[in-house]
Amino acid sequence: MTAKYVYRFGGGESEGSADMKDLLGGKGANLAEMAKLGIPVPAGFTITTEVCTHYDQNDKTYPDALQADVQAAITHMEEVMGRRFGDPEKPLLLSVRSGARASMPGMMDTVLNLGINDEIVRGLEAANPRAAWDCYRRFVQMYGDVVMDLKPVLKTEMDPFEAIIEDVKREQGVTQDVDLRVEDLMELVQRFKARIEERTGKIFPDDPHEQLWGAISAVFGSWQNDRAKVYRRINKIPEHWGTAVNVQAMVFGNMGDDCATGVGFSRNPANGAGGLYGEYLVNAQGEDVVAGTRTPQPLSKLRDAMPELYSQLDNIVRKLEDHYRDMQDIEFTIEHGRLWMLQTRNGKRTGFAACQIAVDMVEEGKVEPADALTRLVPDANALDQLLKPVFDPESINKAKTEGRLMAKGLAAGPGAASGKIAFNAEDAVAMAAKGEPVVLVRVETSPEDIRGMEASQGILTARGGQTSHAALVARQMGKVCVAGCSDLVVDYARGKMTAGGMTVKAGDYLSIDGFTGEVFTDRVKVMPSEVKQALFGNGEAAEQARQSHTFLAFQRLLEWADQHRTLGVRANADQPDQAAEAVVYGAEGIGLCRTEHMFFGGDRIMAVREMIVATDHFGREHALEKLLPYQRDDFAALFKAMGIRPVTIRLLDPPLHEFLPHSKIDVLHLAKSMHVDPEVLSQKLRSLREFNPMLGHRGCRLGITYPEIYMMQVRAIVEAAIHVRKHDNIDCLPEIMIPLVCHRKELAILRHQAEDLIAETMAAAGVQFKIPIGTMIELPRAALTADSIATDADFFSFGTNDLTQTVFGLSRDDSGRFLPDYLEQGILPDDPFVSIDQEGVGALVKIGMQQGRKANPTLKVGICGEHGGDPQSVHFFHKTGLNYISCSPPRLPVARLAAAQAAILYPA
Ligand code: PEP
Ligand code: MG
Repeated sequence: MTAKYVYRFGGGESEGSADMKDLLGGKGANLAEMAKLGIPVPAGFTITTEVCTHYDQNDKTYPDALQADVQAAITHMEEVMGRRFGDPEKPLLLSVRSGARASMPGMMDTVLNLGINDEIVRGLEAANPRAAWDCYRRFVQMYGDVVMDLKPVLKTEMDPFEAIIEDVKREQGVTQDVDLRVEDLMELVQRFKARIEERTGKIFPDDPHEQLWGAISAVFGSWQNDRAKVYRRINKIPEHWGTAVNVQAMVFGNMGDDCATGVGFSRNPANGAGGLYGEYLVNAQGEDVVAGTRTPQPLSKLRDAMPELYSQLDNIVRKLEDHYRDMQDIEFTIEHGRLWMLQTRNGKRTGFAACQIAVDMVEEGKVEPADALTRLVPDANALDQLLKPVFDPESINKAKTEGRLMAKGLAAGPGAASGKIAFNAEDAVAMAAKGEPVVLVRVETSPEDIRGMEASQGILTARGGQTSHAALVARQMGKVCVAGCSDLVVDYARGKMTAGGMTVKAGDYLSIDGFTGEVFTDRVKVMPSEVKQALFGNGEAAEQARQSHTFLAFQRLLEWADQHRTLGVRANADQPDQAAEAVVYGAEGIGLCRTEHMFFGGDRIMAVREMIVATDHFGREHALEKLLPYQRDDFAALFKAMGIRPVTIRLLDPPLHEFLPHSKIDVLHLAKSMHVDPEVLSQKLRSLREFNPMLGHRGCRLGITYPEIYMMQVRAIVEAAIHVRKHDNIDCLPEIMIPLVCHRKELAILRHQAEDLIAETMAAAGVQFKIPIGTMIELPRAALTADSIATDADFFSFGTNDLTQTVFGLSRDDSGRFLPDYLEQGILPDDPFVSIDQEGVGALVKIGMQQGRKANPTLKVGICGEHGGDPQSVHFFHKTGLNYISCSPPRLPVARLAAAQAAILYPA
């Protein structure tokens, strides 16, 4: 541990800098950097994240030297600001805020206006009595909640402080907070303190130093609160990072009409459009803007109201964006006509904005394409958002003509959502667990709602602006969000909501448009996004979509990605339409065609069942004869769709149980088609039942026991390829892949049989071309003995789904029941079926690849498990040195981007 716990900034001095985020947290590091750049920042200091770790690990105590360091830093602040902490004559008030390495909006605690008591408030009164008492009232309220822990006891209970405010307003006959008089604010302070004492048994501290240490401890302690933990889990923020604490001189946006406070972005975080964008409130404190309790004004109004300050702010924001070379999210306060910057950080943005900003910044000459691509690392899934559905115009028009437009709010998170109404997070979670689409409706969201937001398709709030908690968190989660819909009257107690003369109840359908802010009763049909229309549509609308900013940015990014990536990208596709889709998404081949998926359509399933339950070779051959033409046609169609791109066809890997009839009627049906006695068939079915089908008679084991099945498939592949080459003049490139190999002899035997049949079929047709034969590596034994297996393989493709299942001994089908607890408790950082477990499964991938290439230097190595579409896993596969990944077609844009990022970040 370093011995320096406290870093000062302000007054022309700055001990930290932007590259010290690990130690100072994002907020602290950027405050230090702004002070360094000469930007007006109220003086303050940051207590490091190492102190948080010390506090957590040492029974909530601090390193010995901390107290003296904090005192020295306060003295420095007093000198710079010309005020004294605890001095009634010229009091210095402080803000105490959290600030981790990654931003965690609203998840941890903050205390503002600290350092005030009955005596000190008198010192502030001289400047503005109402503001002085308003500060005091806010401080007691915030401190009482955060530090002294006075919270509602029951879920249905109102916030205790808000309840007192409501009482006083009623007694005074006023409806708005701003109508409360100085005497009323004094009354509030007294009643707040009394309620705290009555409910917690603790006396409110008057000593500013005691207040400060109480707040510091509460902020460090809030790293471990429930909502921060959930947020960390969702956003994969490590537990051990800890938060820093920033103590800073208060500046006041609530001292009169020449004061204001606001938040802004250097570009629009919803769509990426250039120019200062944000909101502010006159005569208010920062929390009023973010908390969503008053709906703020757009910053364009500040330009008219305070032109000079606006232009100062605009210049600073531009300077910050140029300095950080990324879109900035800022907070500011104007105190009696003087501008202070309180925060800057790289701004959170929607997928649309992320893509647009990345492309625009390259075009403006601010960054290189490689920078733009790597800046999208946290937003690698952004491209997915561009493929998200929107409302179907016909369905929307119908909703409008039927008068179902209920209200309009702020378009805060793009996309279209239609789902059942939940009025609280708990109900949203319960409804989602039943598989129902949910729209969470709240007056305003608070960090406690995070689980409900995660479970919902869309979020609708009555209060709050673009930068309210709901909007910020929804955008980050990629959720559809309409915020600040002030016409809504939400009645939690009766489970209903009214607007525009319409009333809807909990459980009713509601549709919200995160592009326009419109709210409709009932369902509205959704349809493909602009980018999807541009890629796949025909006609005028598609043509228009192809000219759209969003589509052009999408294309440009992917062009750059393709220029940088070294990993090949293929698709997992079994049907010609999927193959065609894959080509549009940039597939360079098919990495996995699961042939068993080709058997579900039409009459095929009956023939497959006949084949499985056949009692002898003759019966099986009979069923296979029926299947051969289907397979040949299916393969030919796939080859035509893929042209000269390689197509890896995996021989049958059926978990047999998936194909067998379960209901009595299906058994009867099959018996009839096979001309066998239903009882005999039932008996056969019982004999085929496996205790653990995933580890049973599947994959190449089937080819070993019934070679005729695999050979039918090989024949179909070769004949289809010959046909397409001859009749369609396409030099198609089939590859044959053998699944679930665990021993070199399995592959050797099956390869030998296949090669003979290929040679024979080609000779009969008078053609000659190469059909590579490879294997999947999806069992630990295969990875560990990959050198011997590789001598019979032209390629390996890691089946990381089965490899994960078998390395963990964790059933693919059953893990959903307990894996969430493993993630919740931090035993595993991610679901290993989504993001590759680099330590375990990844180690076997490395071993398998290295051993394989050692024995066979020309071996091509890919991966075709679900991990091929996960950005974090793609980075790992690139670093490991694989040749290609293969994933589902719609994940290809994300995979291409992730592959490029990996190539730039980890050059060979
Ligand atoms: C795998 O196991 O990773 C794989 C791609 O095969 P399947 O998912 O079909 O078992
Ligand atoms: Mg598998």
